[in-house]
Amino acid sequence: MTSRPHGIDGWGFPNQEYAPEPYVMEQAPRCALVVTPHPDDAEGGCGATMAKWIAESGTKVVILMCTNGNKGTGDRSFTPEGLAATREIEQQNAARVLGVSEVVFLRYGDGELEDTHKYRGEVVRQIRRHKPEVVFGIDPYRVTSHTHRDHRHSGQAALDAAFSYAWSWLDFPEQIAAEGLEPHQVGEALLWGSERPDTFISINEQHILMKAAALSQHASQISARTASQRLERMTEGCRLQGERCGVPFAEGFRRIQFNLGTDEWWLLNR
Ligand SMILES: [Zn+2]
Repeated sequence: MTSRPHGIDGWGFPNQEYAPEPYVMEQAPRCALVVTPHPDDAEGGCGATMAKWIAESGTKVVILMCTNGNKGTGDRSFTPEGLAATREIEQQNAARVLGVSEVVFLRYGDGELEDTHKYRGEVVRQIRRHKPEVVFGIDPYRVTSHTHRDHRHSGQAALDAAFSYAWSWLDFPEQIAAEGLEPHQVGEALLWGSERPDTFISINEQHILMKAAALSQHASQISARTASQRLERMTEGCRLQGERCGVPFAEGFRRIQFNLGTDEWWLLNR
């Protein structure tokens, strides 16, 4: 008989006691796909982890940039088209700083990302192309604060594509029949921007420098701070995450595993 995980009530839902111990993830994956709504979100969310895994473990990292960010400015001299073009170049430059293998641009309008069959299929396609063990995204669920609509939809699409569309040969079968792709089972999702991070990647000051340097490439978004102010802010943020798990610096995520035997699987299959 399957025993009920700690903190799971009789209806199969997490209760007030559901607070897993902070988990410091040591192992880097062979490949990670970062599903992100706007240029600069991924670097802020998991930039130091990308830097660490690419430099130290040779992880192949692919960024799926879902919108073109064409409304992200208060500068009225920009046209939406000009801003989108600028931000695409900035995103390529940021990816180059970190050593990201590829940036795939879906080019949805900023604020116009909807949870559609077509969009989910585009995320599935990249999962099937690159076969990542880990998918990064923004935590779409918040209780105490609001987040951008594109953030919610991209986080939700990342989770839904990873589980269960990508591994089912009956979902988006045209990708298998016509594009030569195969179903793929993602191992886990790591969600940044979570109110309850439970999984941490220990990083050092060099990784934080690279995170800040990557963010600095998004010049259209960051005029309010100098590079050193940005580095200071990044360092403090990573120090606070490190405090949660007992290391000097970290990036924190909410982890959802898609494998048999996890709490999540138990909840889905109770
Ligand atoms: Zn954003």
